[in-house]
Amino acid sequence: MPKFYLSTSAVLLACAVTAACSHAPATIPDITSSARGADTCRAAEVGVQVLGSGGPIAEGSRAGTSYAVWIDGKAQLLIDAGPGSFIRFGEAGLKVADLKAIALSHFHADHSAGLAGILNSGSFEASADPLLFIGPVAGSVFPGAGDLLSALVGREDGAWSYLSGYLDGGDGRRLLDVREIAASDTEQAPTTRIDISSDLTLIAIPVHHGEVPSLAYLVKAKGRDIVFASDQSAFSTGFDRVTRNIEPDLLVAHHVIPQGEGQPIGLHRPPSGIGTMAASIVPRMLLLSHHMERSFSRLQESLALIGAQFDGPTMIASDGTCIAL
Ligand SMILES: [Zn+2]
Ligand SMILES: [Zn+2]
Repeated sequence: MPKFYLSTSAVLLACAVTAACSHAPATIPDITSSARGADTCRAAEVGVQVLGSGGPIAEGSRAGTSYAVWIDGKAQLLIDAGPGSFIRFGEAGLKVADLKAIALSHFHADHSAGLAGILNSGSFEASADPLLFIGPVAGSVFPGAGDLLSALVGREDGAWSYLSGYLDGGDGRRLLDVREIAASDTEQAPTTRIDISSDLTLIAIPVHHGEVPSLAYLVKAKGRDIVFASDQSAFSTGFDRVTRNIEPDLLVAHHVIPQGEGQPIGLHRPPSGIGTMAASIVPRMLLLSHHMERSFSRLQESLALIGAQFDGPTMIASDGTCIAL
């Protein structure tokens, strides 16, 4: 009888092909929903992909808030970078080098704590163009966009000062071009327009989110309008005025709290307030995101309250969801 010798790799290959070996995995992991969503967004002229559909509490499998705006097959704008968005960023195959801007709505950790990881990932990519970094000015106990970056990657005091090239262009890093936006006047809500490229414009609008300097963003991408309302309360009177009847293609609203007593309405819109906002803005589609157990467990009630005022299509965000526009 001839003797056969199989190398370890040959055994593993045979196992993978035949699934006959007991030590082989029972199933090969499916492609992630983020990768599937990326395929949809990559094929669209303009798409919005949810990288994180969760909130501040670690519950379930949702990452903290984050969205990517795709244009012509590349994710060019990152809105927020909550914890866990780093993983979705990689699953979706995004590259920091493709980004033209990162815009953070405010500096609660569920919207910003993934930033350092994404910047660290980007330090392994080559790109000469400056990267716009947009966020609110300082207020209350919160830093401004520049102070936040200094605390993260500043050469003197940054926690990860080895990445300080992002602030001075050293070490071959991509220079961050910081734009701090006034965010305190939520009644007059002075808008700030930033033309990022010929295809991409961002308009920042101050919103009321307790004492947290916070910005909503109206993004104009190749003729599509997208409103990222972010965390905001129903006291965002200036935002309501600025966005009335603008009829965007998509409104992304945060479904953070359920209806009823005892909820932090000084920070967030209850479902009825989301309905009021959508009825005022009149988007072609509404996407509910930033779900938490307290709100998601009462989703049907929330949808009924929103639907009483807004009768357009309403979608529920998951991590990876792509809305092609
Ligand atoms: Zn939040
Ligand atoms: Zn917040």
